[in-house]
Amino acid sequence: TNRPGPLDLFDLDDLVGEEERAIQQTVRDVVEQQIRPHVAQWYDEGSLPARELALELGKVGLLGMHLTGYGCAGTSATAYGLACLELEAGDSGVRSLVSVQGSLAMYAIWKHGSAEQKDEWLPRMSAGEAIGCFGLTEPDAGSDPASMRTRARRDPAPDGRGDWVLNGSKMWITNGSIADVAVVWAQTDEGIRGFVVPTDSAGFSAPEIKRKLSLRASVTSELVLDDVRLPADAVLPEVTGLKGPLSCLTEARFGIVFGSIGAARDCLESALRYSGERDIFGRKLAAFQLTQAKLADMTIELGKAMLLALHLGRLKDAGRITAAQVSLGKLNNVREAIAIARECRTILGAAGITLEHPVLRHANNLESVLTYEGTTEVHQLVVGQALTGESAFR
Ligand code: FAD
Repeated sequence: TNRPGPLDLFDLDDLVGEEERAIQQTVRDVVEQQIRPHVAQWYDEGSLPARELALELGKVGLLGMHLTGYGCAGTSATAYGLACLELEAGDSGVRSLVSVQGSLAMYAIWKHGSAEQKDEWLPRMSAGEAIGCFGLTEPDAGSDPASMRTRARRDPAPDGRGDWVLNGSKMWITNGSIADVAVVWAQTDEGIRGFVVPTDSAGFSAPEIKRKLSLRASVTSELVLDDVRLPADAVLPEVTGLKGPLSCLTEARFGIVFGSIGAARDCLESALRYSGERDIFGRKLAAFQLTQAKLADMTIELGKAMLLALHLGRLKDAGRITAAQVSLGKLNNVREAIAIARECRTILGAAGITLEHPVLRHANNLESVLTYEGTTEVHQLVVGQALTGESAFR
């Protein structure tokens, strides 16, 4: 049969360049060969072979792919988004690994780091030989990172520069237990600053958070900093204040605008396939009007999400995307993706609740995606503030 897939119906090919399409296809192939055959088992076991995967993804050039220099591919933002889409069609946990590596940990060093920090970490991170994590959230500071308690103080030294000593803890940190380097944000006398912390530093530990019901094919950890002593040049020199971590989050959030579409597309393809095979009341499930109404409505939301993502990609490539625009993209696309995943689950009936099909795995993953990188509510407040000029955060 030559029926179009849900996104084919929109005929969006002209909106994507040839090179971008080739990158997307490469990532799609990697997902089909290296992720899809194993991901249900990883999810079931609550584990991810992150080291092996990082090396494979590094080989294809997916880690920090939109950055330039240091072995990074320097692709368009749109190409990076399309890669996120295909990775998340595999699993949101795999996309999270890539987002945190490229858009949070690497981007923080690339944008705000010293030449020495970049030389030391970026080439190995882009190759997947070193894994990074990004520690902003704390047990008592999530949506309000300014209230963080982790503190870095200078320990005066004879040369007047002094080491840094870090104390505190971070929570819900993707890649934490497997990371070689952690970008940790902490209060200092000068405001919030970022620190490049090798994870073998004395006093650093990263216990893994277990018993998750979402993003199970992803490592999530606590970071404990107990008198972690770092040299004076461990601080990211180029930024002070909350704008440091927020600049990185805008990067990663942009990837989620696209990524969430991948999870939703995978669910919709699964529901379409299932409804075409399932006989019920003597006909195909796909032949019933209620089923078709669901499929039609979901396809329209998916296409609208894709149009929004491509538009935001072009704005970013033109260097004029705003944080509020990324917020509204993340808010809309993740909210629609999780609605699609849940609706697709109804089409699969009981079969939809197992790992034989990807839909409930995606739906459960999207619960995390709805919350991290700014919750839905926080993005509503960002968009609300852009519209009204009034901040309703506190
Ligand atoms: P809270 O901030 O306590 O929010 C609780 C509820 O209150 C939410 O519904 C929220 O929307 C709502 N709320 C907050 N403010 C307002 C307001 N002003 N008005 C009305 N309602 C409000 N963090 C990192 O730093 N690095 C990572 O790598 C990372 N990875 C993660 C991976 C996973 C799987 C998950 C689940 C989280 C991860 N996070 C990470 C943390 C994530 O960014 C936070 O969970 C998120 O910022 C929300 O913080 P919180 O969970 O403390 O919720």
